[in-house]
Amino acid sequence: MTLRICDFKDVDISAFDAVVVGSGFAGAVTARELAERGGMRVLILEKRPHIGGNMYDEYDEAGILVHRYGPHIFHTNDQRVFNYVRRFTGWIAYQHHVLADWYGTYMPVPFNKNSMEIAFGEEKAAHLIQKLIDVFGDERKVTINELRETDDPELAEVADFVYQNVFLYYTQKQWGLTPEEVDPSVTARVPVFISRDDRYFQDAYQGMPSLGYTALFEELLGHENITVCLDTDAASVFDLEFQDGSEDAKLSAIKIKDAPFEGPIVYTGPLDELFCGRFGRLPYRTLDFVYETYDEEYKLPCATVNCTVTEDYTRVTEFKRLTAQKSDKTTIMKEYSRAYEDPDAQIPYYAIINDENNAHYQRYRALTESLPNFHPLGRLAEYRYYNMDKIIELALALSDELLATRADA
Ligand code: FAD
Ligand code: UDP
Repeated sequence: MTLRICDFKDVDISAFDAVVVGSGFAGAVTARELAERGGMRVLILEKRPHIGGNMYDEYDEAGILVHRYGPHIFHTNDQRVFNYVRRFTGWIAYQHHVLADWYGTYMPVPFNKNSMEIAFGEEKAAHLIQKLIDVFGDERKVTINELRETDDPELAEVADFVYQNVFLYYTQKQWGLTPEEVDPSVTARVPVFISRDDRYFQDAYQGMPSLGYTALFEELLGHENITVCLDTDAASVFDLEFQDGSEDAKLSAIKIKDAPFEGPIVYTGPLDELFCGRFGRLPYRTLDFVYETYDEEYKLPCATVNCTVTEDYTRVTEFKRLTAQKSDKTTIMKEYSRAYEDPDAQIPYYAIINDENNAHYQRYRALTESLPNFHPLGRLAEYRYYNMDKIIELALALSDELLATRADA
């Protein structure tokens, strides 16, 4: 079924049972579940001119399928999630490989036994690998923080090398912070791997949607009970009502087109934006993407090259290596990370997780807890560093909960 698009001014809000803000995986999966399993009529408000959130892809002028909000590789260990996304598209079996550009020499990331041989030479690497195996075990993943805690002087040398040549400069560029200053869960995403496995992810299910993510989202949202309003910012159509006039007053209702909306409202945008930043803006990192097209079949040695010791961008990705598209041209994309300062002109891509920012977020979250039909969901609304599969898992769980409550009513 084709996607139903509608102009917000033509919407009769009384014809809808649920409102979903945002059409990334959080919003789209919830909308589909409520529409399909619950028979609910769902209205999606999306402020961008297209569906798909950060997964959106499209063909560029050279005819290459490119990701517009950062390279997205699907990987999960959750069979329910993989079975779910398989319903809406075919998949290309794809395993992601990343190389660090170490002063012109390429070295696998995560740093592993093969990287060790490149860094230290075969003979010394053999000795160090055996030490790593003795201390941590073979085929084990060790975070850079764990490795740096070792007392052994030779392993301390390995830790120091990885810290200096893989983590330090990349993390400074990405976060404006040193690895010590970011939450340990951030660098733990890319541990040292005592293995010959050169893949970036080891999940059981990995792949790329065969026609791209936008096509997947068109299928996901193509349901007779779903209507999508593009170019529609929830902030401009929600009329928030509060319990009293104090700064910490909690939400008592959300009016849409002059009437309180009583059905579920699933909100997947940033919470501070909804409340016009009344407690100050939540800190995020944003990205600038710079695309380059070449009259060559391939430009990079693998899908993504991380610039861990040189350059002012963090990484560069060649899309054809992700999508298996054939062409005599190729497009690559460089990512430049910046502080997020202007909600009107920039996109908040990464929440900066730490105790202070989490407490700041919780102050916003508390405003919503009084409104039982309001459900913050997703990477932005929950101020978390979630991958796509986690978002889909959470959207399915919220849908189960909303449908169970409806069945009980
Ligand atoms: P989003 O995709 O951000 O969707 C939110 C939607 O809400 C957007 O469309 C936005 O326009 C809309 N919205 C926001 N505010 C409003 C409003 N006020 N009114 C109306 N609409 C609104 N994950 C992986 O698993 N693999 C990867 O390889 C991977 N690569 C990534 C690379 C980058 C650079 C980034 C930033 C993230 C990457 N991720 C990856 C994570 C992935 O992008 C997220 O898990 C996913 O986007 C979360 O989905 P979501 O629906 O919560 O948010
Ligand atoms: N990281 C690094 N060097 C690398 C790869 C990752 O320092 O070559 C650190 C960096 O702090 C980064 C974090 O590990 O932000 C998580 O990396 P990941 O590739 O998971 O980031 P994402 O794809 O989410 O941007």
